[in-house]
Amino acid sequence: LTQNLAKAEAALSRFKREGVLNHIGGEQRMAASGATFETISPVDGGTLAPVAKGGAEDVDAAVRAATTAFDEWRDMPGKARREILHNVADGIVSRAEEIALVESMDTGQAIRFMSKAAIRGAENFRFFADKAPEARDGQTLYAPGQMNVTSRRPIGPVGVITPWNTPFMLSTWKIAPALAAGCTVVQKPAEFSPMSAKLLVEIAEEAGLPPGVLNVVNGMGEDAGRALTEHPGIKAIAFVGESRTGSMIMRQGSETLKRVHFELGGKNPVIVFDDADIERAVDAAVFMIYSLNGERCTSSSRLLVQDTIYDEVCARVAERASKIKVGHPLDPETMVGPLIHPVHEKKVLGYFDKAREDGATVAAGGVKVGDEGCYVAPTLFTNANNDMAVAREEIFGPVLTAIPFKDEAEAMQIANDTEYGLTAYLWTSDLSRALRMTQRLEAGMMWVNSENIRHLPTPFGGVKASGIGRDGGDWSFDFYMETVNVSFAT
Ligand code: NAD
Repeated sequence: LTQNLAKAEAALSRFKREGVLNHIGGEQRMAASGATFETISPVDGGTLAPVAKGGAEDVDAAVRAATTAFDEWRDMPGKARREILHNVADGIVSRAEEIALVESMDTGQAIRFMSKAAIRGAENFRFFADKAPEARDGQTLYAPGQMNVTSRRPIGPVGVITPWNTPFMLSTWKIAPALAAGCTVVQKPAEFSPMSAKLLVEIAEEAGLPPGVLNVVNGMGEDAGRALTEHPGIKAIAFVGESRTGSMIMRQGSETLKRVHFELGGKNPVIVFDDADIERAVDAAVFMIYSLNGERCTSSSRLLVQDTIYDEVCARVAERASKIKVGHPLDPETMVGPLIHPVHEKKVLGYFDKAREDGATVAAGGVKVGDEGCYVAPTLFTNANNDMAVAREEIFGPVLTAIPFKDEAEAMQIANDTEYGLTAYLWTSDLSRALRMTQRLEAGMMWVNSENIRHLPTPFGGVKASGIGRDGGDWSFDFYMETVNVSFAT
């Protein structure tokens, strides 16, 4: 911890000095209005850096830069774009420690996970870099007297609006495919954790990304974010955040007919049958809700357990939860750091009260930890039912709600009884049951006998209020590109 604190102080000193400015057309710029806001550390509430508070004027300047840069970037041969994007990945790897330290201090998410997240960011760049040369390939479709040639072309400058959890990795998941497709980008990072976006654009330009291809405008969602979604020069918006913000963005973008891609909230079930490998299921459930502070869209926040093993599973999870190390995010031993912000901490603590009022049992946690910083204890509610607020609403913290079920039909009914549909995790040794259930579970991504393990070519996204569209593999290019057809008469 002592070593990490010293390294973090060194990494953060230039942010304090320079501030987190907007980055437009290859230049760092103050907001046009001169306004700033502060990003604070959830560790102690201290100010980390002043941040440019951008608005419509700054967004307009960034969109102009992205529009000017678009022709050159679009027309650059795919192989040249591939090389630049690999250089970006190299730059991320060489500065991964700095990224992780800065991001841990800005978000409160533990360094042990943020180090991996930074490397995942580099992998995202490499994966899409390799796809850049073929991304536009289409097919020929023959008809009598006619030959059709289809191909894809980048849609134009796009807006990327990102949330405060694991911001660096999530941004690369959007920005890398957009750049590989040949689009230029204006990013609006989350106001609670804007620091690592500065590092990404800096690394990208040092790696050879031409100025104006990636631009960053900081600010509030309702100002800078809104202006981006309403700007006629932006052809599509890739958004990761809350479901209700997604609705707002859809409304805001409707006037200019924006294409939208939404990765939204979740209330993901992990369903454990009594024929499952219980030790592994408990391991996975604990990991999926308590890692990254539970501030993770794919976290398994509802634990549905067959009634024959409910008490045993809950006891094991409660024991594990109470032993989890809550502490400074830079301590390599820490699993749960402080929640992102006092506002979010208040929301999570409010659910502790609601759960008690609704009659759930606090089997672990349910309390704030310490006086300073936004620390809460890893929490398990038992004797819960699916009507309780803690089972219905996305809490986005280290809070798990355990609900018993009788049989497969009831498990399915409870699992699907939610407005969300991002992921589902199923634990059973009965393959026929797994096949039956995965056909009817309302989720965009399901894992059978596993925690969330990502394979980048597979589609990522949710159904219902959890999202619109898919990322990953070629699905990302479908979003960032237009498919066009040319028909030749013979
Ligand atoms: P949020 O919706 O509050 O904010 C996300 C971003 O949208 C921020 O940059 C914010 O400034 C911006 N924004 C807010 N209002 C806007 C508006 N009117 N117009 C344009 N932009 C606006 O989300 P958050 O609290 O930062 O992040 C947590 C949420 O993100 C959770 O619901 C979580 O489930 C979700 N999330 C989903 C995924 C996924 O892959 N499905 C991944 C990570 C996070």
